[in-house]
Amino acid sequence: MENEWRCIGCGVKLQTEHPDEIGYTPKSSIGKESVLCQRCFRLKHYNEVRDVQLSDDDFLNILRQIGESDGLVVKIVDIFDFHGSWLPGIHRWVRGDVLLLGNKMDLLPKSVNENKLIHWIRSQAKEFGLKPIDVALVSSAKGYNIQKVIHLIDHYRKGKDVYVIGATNVGKSTFINRIIKEVSGEEQVITTSYFPGTTLDMIEIPLDDGKAIYDTPGIINHHQMAHFVSKADLKIITPKKEIKPKVFQLNERQTLFFGGLARLDFIKGDRHSFVCYLSNELPIHRTKMEKADDLYDKHRGEFLSPPSKEYIDDVPPFDRHEFSIEEGKTDIVFSGLGWVTIPKGGVTVAVYVPKGVRIFIRKSLI
Ligand code: GDP
Repeated sequence: MENEWRCIGCGVKLQTEHPDEIGYTPKSSIGKESVLCQRCFRLKHYNEVRDVQLSDDDFLNILRQIGESDGLVVKIVDIFDFHGSWLPGIHRWVRGDVLLLGNKMDLLPKSVNENKLIHWIRSQAKEFGLKPIDVALVSSAKGYNIQKVIHLIDHYRKGKDVYVIGATNVGKSTFINRIIKEVSGEEQVITTSYFPGTTLDMIEIPLDDGKAIYDTPGIINHHQMAHFVSKADLKIITPKKEIKPKVFQLNERQTLFFGGLARLDFIKGDRHSFVCYLSNELPIHRTKMEKADDLYDKHRGEFLSPPSKEYIDDVPPFDRHEFSIEEGKTDIVFSGLGWVTIPKGGVTVAVYVPKGVRIFIRKSLI
């Protein structure tokens, strides 16, 4: 009987036998209304998160199921971490239409031109092989454009089911919660958290016509910075408010440190501005290139933080990547941390990030 029960937070099947495995809840809570698994319970009441992950194989199985069903796919990307949160290869599995949503719009400067941004998203999606039926910008946290998206979903689903997919941490649960709130007035039905990998199993939201919106678990993109830092540090690097870009005029052979998590050396080029789009709380430190190694060795975990001192050994050592940037309006993206826009071309830079974190070079988003 117990297998019939599901957690109202994350949707996982509940079990009462194995406290260390997913879906555990004490026997006494089974049979009550609105049961949470222990993981969601802790998250909700103590803000404590356990890291539970979905394997790549499990995710492929889910995609296969979606592929067979021919419903509308709502694919969410985190606009602040577009490349890091992109799920490659979706178009190979999905037969139905894909509505692409750029979430966390509230983080971008208000001056951003939305039409240009939508155009930019379309062109990036095309490069990845995906042709969405439409693209929209939302802020699930603030509710921005949610009504519009609800209408778009209703329009494009053509009486079929809807599957919401996305990498972990794109704000998928927040989006679904928001929809539930708008549709039914209920709050906090699904687990949301800072830590990636916390939504398990599919959650069904019934629609009027017997169809449903399904929230799928998020897949982990292992190259995102979020997977290399502690929970406390993740709070610092995850922007919560509109990003105020910081502009640095650099001469060649100067270096910027982004906390102790990334470094950019301006190796060659005329005096040049570097526009940094990162969490407002992440300290940026400028120094001379020849002093940078020494500074890093001595002050990482101190003023070059995050990572905070107690966690510096958990972050892998830096990998160096060198780029010649010929064209202006180019972004250097540190997956999950933010990006630096180079307004004019003709510069050579070296970028350092913890081994395993990806760097992307792209046409500038703003
Ligand atoms: P999921 O793993 O995709 O289900 O992501 P969650 O819904 O748990 O959200 C991950 C993190 O992103 C949480 O810290 C959310 O508060 C935050 N988040 C979600 N939506 C938004 C948004 O629209 N704007 C901002 N600034 N943060 C958001």
